Amino acid sequence: TAKEQGRNRYAYFSHIMQERAQARRQLIKDLRACIAAERLKVHYQPIICLETGQMRKAESLVRWNHPQKGPISPVEFIPLCEETGLIVELGEQIFKTVVRDVGRWIRDNHAEMQVSINVSPVQLLSGHEVSERCFRMARNAGIPDRTLVIEVTEGMLLDNNPFVIQQLRQIVDHGMELALDDFGTGYSSLSYLKKFNFHFLKIDRAFVMHLAAGTTDYALCDAIITMAHKLGMQVIAEGVETEEQMRLLREAGCDFGQGLLFSRPVPADELGGWLASGAPPWIGPGTPFPDV
Ligand code: C2E
Ligand code: MG
Ligand code: MG
Ligand code: MG
Repeated sequence: TAKEQGRNRYAYFSHIMQERAQARRQLIKDLRACIAAERLKVHYQPIICLETGQMRKAESLVRWNHPQKGPISPVEFIPLCEETGLIVELGEQIFKTVVRDVGRWIRDNHAEMQVSINVSPVQLLSGHEVSERCFRMARNAGIPDRTLVIEVTEGMLLDNNPFVIQQLRQIVDHGMELALDDFGTGYSSLSYLKKFNFHFLKIDRAFVMHLAAGTTDYALCDAIITMAHKLGMQVIAEGVETEEQMRLLREAGCDFGQGLLFSRPVPADELGGWLASGAPPWIGPGTPFPDV
């Protein structure tokens, strides 16, 4: 009967939901264990100057290689860390790793390197004085404050929270720089620009992906770049995958590009190797920068 069918269907969906909740609980458990054992890694993705082809910047990106399931995307596990508060401990480990890696590059005569770190609003809200701890770790590692760039996203900035505002202002006062991540995908983007002194604006991949001459996306990128420059910010385009995208971004005056065209995120040693050899693989014949 229809009633029986309905009951079966309910049993079926409720079974799926239970399995999902169970998988989630297991993942959080694994995450907690891996963070406690400091098993998560940090990779670095080069950020390239579109004028010279040089790499003076990179973004740090956390990596989790699950013992059984293999690599799991931060898109999947960062929200779990935020919901459970694990982000505070993880964030601190990431910071510690980054200052250690950058410290090495700086001692190896790459004092101009700048590395950005993604910071979750939950970290800023945690009441753990994230900024104070960051300053101390940076100082202990002997790296100049301007070496570190803090990336925050517009969507969740909670821009009216006084505690978050205070933390972000402290970051700037200390000489660290701020980047507005994923620009164009949140809601009240322009009001953030008024409130905080961002050094960098990162154009979200969504606008770069379908970039072609004469398109709305091109007009948007072009206008964002002009606006950012007028406000004294430099622009980093995310998700640059093709030479055509790079050409159009250069034409629009974009300062930096980041994406698979140049490099995927790589372990610290690999990036260090490129710095040491002075010959990053994207400069030279057969690369996006044949002539620099
Ligand atoms: P995001 O900060 O916007 O980072 C850029 C993402 O774009 C990275 O994904 C990067 O691997 C990816 N990407 C770079 N170039 C390309 C490209 O050419 N094409 C495509 N399709 N993707 C590209 P990832 O590493 O998976 O990280 C995703 C998001 O997770 C980050 O977005 C950030 O919001 C968050 N996340 C990553 N690492 C951390 C971290 O250490 N702390 C915190 N709080 N969040 C992080
Ligand atoms: Mg980012
Ligand atoms: Mg981004
Ligand atoms: Mg993003």
